[in-house]
Amino acid sequence: MFPLYFIGFFVFIFGLCIGSFLNVVIYRLEKGEGFVGGRSYCPHCKHSLMWLDLIPVFSFLFLWGKCRYCGKKISVQYPMVEIATGLIFLLIFNFQFSWPVGASPQVLFNQFSIYQIINILFLWYIASSLIVIFVYDLKFYLILDSVLFPAIIITFLFRLLSSFFIGNWVLGIGNFILAALIASGFFLLIFLISRGAWMGFGDVKLAILLGLLLGFPNILAGLFLSFFFGAIIGLILMLLQKKGLKSEIPFAPFLIAGTLVSMFFGDRIINWYFNFFILP
Ligand SMILES: [Zn+2]
Repeated sequence: MFPLYFIGFFVFIFGLCIGSFLNVVIYRLEKGEGFVGGRSYCPHCKHSLMWLDLIPVFSFLFLWGKCRYCGKKISVQYPMVEIATGLIFLLIFNFQFSWPVGASPQVLFNQFSIYQIINILFLWYIASSLIVIFVYDLKFYLILDSVLFPAIIITFLFRLLSSFFIGNWVLGIGNFILAALIASGFFLLIFLISRGAWMGFGDVKLAILLGLLLGFPNILAGLFLSFFFGAIIGLILMLLQKKGLKSEIPFAPFLIAGTLVSMFFGDRIINWYFNFFILP
């Protein structure tokens, strides 16, 4: 018998490896290369990397954040994306499947239904897409349709599938479509009023995905958190004088951060809000 956290540990390691792959995807999307096949290489000296250079996080630490061949600095984006992916994968696994305290692995596997496994794989895929969109928008101020559109289609199909499983169209897909309309409608309004100055059209499209993911009323918590994070980071950047009032800050990273937090804690945030403000 191996302890339960053992499985969690492997999920985290698996997430680190996927994170390493996502870094490659981001780099190759930028260069317009295909991301299946071909060897990984240093972006500075183009020297192809050996397996020792490709171990998530550890290679970065052992090499002191520098390329073994040319000595140029490796971006901290690499280990950060890996660690973030590992943690988010672990969180998804944990939340999808809350550990019964002291349960044996046998109990664990009995509880795994096909639906739960599909759900976990679906959320891992969506989280990966969101991480790529997050980093890419942060770096290049561009939300990639090539990553966003497949995610929207798969999320829509997944909600359709869920409706069959649950046998309830309102809970299965209706409230998610409502959330998508509210979120994208809201951003479309901001986009039209400001003529694209406050919000890009990419954010309008991204909001469709986030609505389909969170549903109603979780989308409200997600949007609130996005603006909250945006305001805090914006203030910090202004205080550090990195950005002026009028400088552009990409919004997708905040939307994605708000969505991920709301995905895991949305129910609790909404309950807390109602208990705190609405009820005496
Ligand atoms: Zn190099």
